[in-house]
Amino acid sequence: MSFDYDLFVIGGGSGGVRAGRLAAGTGAKVALAEEYRMGGTCVIRGCVPKKLMVYASSYSEAFEDAKGYGWTVGDSSFDWSKLIAAKDKEITRLEAIYGKNLGAAGAEQFDARAELVDAHTVKLSTGQTFTAKHILVAVGGTPFVPNIEGKEHIISSNEIFDLKEQPKRFLVVGGGYIACEFACIMNGLGSKVTQFYRSEQILRGFDNEVRDFVAEEMRGKGIDLRVNTDVKSIEKTTDGLKVTVSDGSELIVDQVMYATGRIPNTHGLGLENAGVEIGRKGEIIVDGYSQTNIPSIYAVGDVTDRVQLTPVAIREGAAFVDTVFHGNPSQADHDLIPTAVFTQPEIGTVGMGEEEARASEEIEVYKSAFRPMAHILAGKSERMLMKLIISKATRKVLGCHIVGHAAGEMIQMAGIAVKMGATKEDFDRTMAVHPTAAEELVTMKTPVAS
Ligand code: FAD
Ligand code: NDP
Repeated sequence: MSFDYDLFVIGGGSGGVRAGRLAAGTGAKVALAEEYRMGGTCVIRGCVPKKLMVYASSYSEAFEDAKGYGWTVGDSSFDWSKLIAAKDKEITRLEAIYGKNLGAAGAEQFDARAELVDAHTVKLSTGQTFTAKHILVAVGGTPFVPNIEGKEHIISSNEIFDLKEQPKRFLVVGGGYIACEFACIMNGLGSKVTQFYRSEQILRGFDNEVRDFVAEEMRGKGIDLRVNTDVKSIEKTTDGLKVTVSDGSELIVDQVMYATGRIPNTHGLGLENAGVEIGRKGEIIVDGYSQTNIPSIYAVGDVTDRVQLTPVAIREGAAFVDTVFHGNPSQADHDLIPTAVFTQPEIGTVGMGEEEARASEEIEVYKSAFRPMAHILAGKSERMLMKLIISKATRKVLGCHIVGHAAGEMIQMAGIAVKMGATKEDFDRTMAVHPTAAEELVTMKTPVAS
């Protein structure tokens, strides 16, 4: 049977573009459909614009810190519309690069929504229909917002990047990556920030000490972080949005952002037409090779709800191409993924937290909590935390957790060592780089707990 394409990719985000580009590079006939903007969540309304806003928000503290080092800092002010315009320019530049690289590799691009018709056929919103030997579904995820009274008044992370005005009073709901990052961003940009989290402590799944440490530092920077707190209802008033809180109190804000998780973008995708199996949250069920129950259909990235991170989607896309177009069956390795949360202070982490490790084997815990040198003259009380979780049996580093400036940069490097199976003694025999904060990672001598 002959097909229009060897591969049809649905979704021009991190996973789809990487797979499309690499597959086209093998000489395969490839097409990709993107319904919104090339680059996907990461480039258009995720990692990239978020990180630009993190940088922007760090200046308010930097101006203050500079005074301790002898600088006289003049009046400073922040212009939201200038930041958004600069961000938009950069995003548009990156979007064009994504499209150009895909074209240069030989793939055809359709600015259209695609839906599945059957195991080998897709239909575009333009009315065109194409057949393909393989179909890769890489449609990502979309914000999930629970049903609350007044839901029509809230925004999600999709909208925050395009607000015309900076909300002066900002409520963020949720305690995960996005909620914590945006609480810090908006606080750094000068908004009065309140954060509600429904349970005991933010950042579930991270090491408990890291969670407590970050929550305390966020409060120290002025964020009104309220745990065991949720929204009852939201009403629009002439004063702003009136939020009725689960404890019965009220709060007036200019904007409410929900960051309560993301769900797979599979609604209306025609998966049922092709017989593709999905899970409870709508995620496409795949095996280690990203293949669905329908042999011609694969899925990578957030739509599979494995690990919702850009580098993971990219690796899954590359492994798919290795498997299908190079005849080299490959699985993306989901073990020991280093990750950063770009809060202020930042978190960098790889491997197990203390509680998780303790539940699986006997461990030693090494810890250093200190005021980094950079903060002394700046007169800042903010501390840094470094923590190593060691297996007593193998001496391997099971977990490495860093909270503080540049933790994301540090954990990328520490992640290599941990992935290689480094032991505590390997860390110890590595010479320190002095004077840095990171040197604490190789100078912790005595376990604080075992
Ligand atoms: P996406 O990048 O979401 O791409 C899917 C694409 O498919 C989209 O462009 C969409 O328009 C398109 N599409 C959907 N349906 C169709 C259809 N039917 N037809 C055609 N096109 C369709 N990860 C990190 O690693 N680091 C970070 O710092 C980070 N920050 C983030 C911040 C925010 C605010 C958010 C929301 C996410 C962040 N992430 C971060 C997560 C990261 O963005 C995702 O894990 C990653 O983008 C997933 O890639 P993907 O290819 O699976 O999907
Ligand atoms: P997360 O899964 O990280 O967090 C969701 C949060 O919402 C949790 O605190 C959860 O609480 C809470 N929540 C869920 N449902 C409800 C509800 N009905 N009412 C109130 N609260 C609720 O999702 P995010 O949306 O923050 O981010 C999505 C994913 O994107 C992340 O998991 C991450 O993989 C990726 N990302 C990565 C970033 C990075 O690498 N720096 C940055 C941003 C996003 P509970 O814990 O109680 O379930």
